[in-house]
Amino acid sequence: MAAPVLMAWISFITFINTHLCECIVCGDSIAEENTPSPTRKCNHVRCVCNDCMQSMISAQVSGDDWKNIRCPELNCRRLLDYEDIEIFATQQTKDRYEELLAHSALEKMPDFLWCPLAGCTSGQFHADMDEDPKVQCIKCRGYSCFKCKGEWHGSQSCEEAANQNKETDRIKTLYSKRCPGRGCGQYIQKVRGCMEIDCGNINCRVIFCWECKIILDKSKGYEERSREGHLAGCKAKYVREKRRKESKLCKIAEKPADGNEKYRDGWDVDAGFVGTGQEY
Ligand SMILES: [Zn+2]
Ligand SMILES: [Zn+2]
Ligand SMILES: [Zn+2]
Ligand SMILES: [Zn+2]
Ligand SMILES: [Zn+2]
Ligand SMILES: [Zn+2]
Repeated sequence: MAAPVLMAWISFITFINTHLCECIVCGDSIAEENTPSPTRKCNHVRCVCNDCMQSMISAQVSGDDWKNIRCPELNCRRLLDYEDIEIFATQQTKDRYEELLAHSALEKMPDFLWCPLAGCTSGQFHADMDEDPKVQCIKCRGYSCFKCKGEWHGSQSCEEAANQNKETDRIKTLYSKRCPGRGCGQYIQKVRGCMEIDCGNINCRVIFCWECKIILDKSKGYEERSREGHLAGCKAKYVREKRRKESKLCKIAEKPADGNEKYRDGWDVDAGFVGTGQEY
């Protein structure tokens, strides 16, 4: 009585294990026997190839969403735990994931804080906590406030310091545009002078047009690059043409698309910018 049931069960298992199907992400066919389920708790057909799992995990681990890596099967969406991630991830991704885990464990300790000062990535314990909130960083030697986790603000209360920072930020966005360079975004204020802006960030150093934010080609001479590549309607473009009595028209550049390697996302938006009226 039990034997036929067992045989049927075995052939069913064999069918499940050797059945070929398509990866729901890339469409390549996958042999399920070589493809583990996204999580050990998944109870559906194996549906994503190892390569796609690997790139999904690495993208999430390098972004903000590393705690929320889920099975891509829409009817499943189970969370991957560390052991699931280990199966698919590259060594580099695993190292990064472990680092993030260690960081988040530290952050849960009540007497731990990260140094908030620009360019510093150090963290440390501060046993005095709120009683003596002034913390000196063991690495950059700068001071921060344990209570608000911001830069040390002397005799000001945390709230006063936060309000002042907000005001400083507001003024900064009112009068500055941000560098369009990928990986940059430096706030830059223009006071009269040329429409060409040199980004002061040493890791960036692009030259861009203040008006249309197009990045100009540094390898070309001033005259040449200023005639090239402005967006249609750019004021700088018309100023140049007028100065040259329209003898040499500027070229019109196509607007760089999202994901362009030279431009950061949102490069053309300077929300809140009103200017000082002294820019020209
Ligand atoms: Zn795939
Ligand atoms: Zn699943
Ligand atoms: Zn520091
Ligand atoms: Zn504070
Ligand atoms: Zn820049
Ligand atoms: Zn321009």
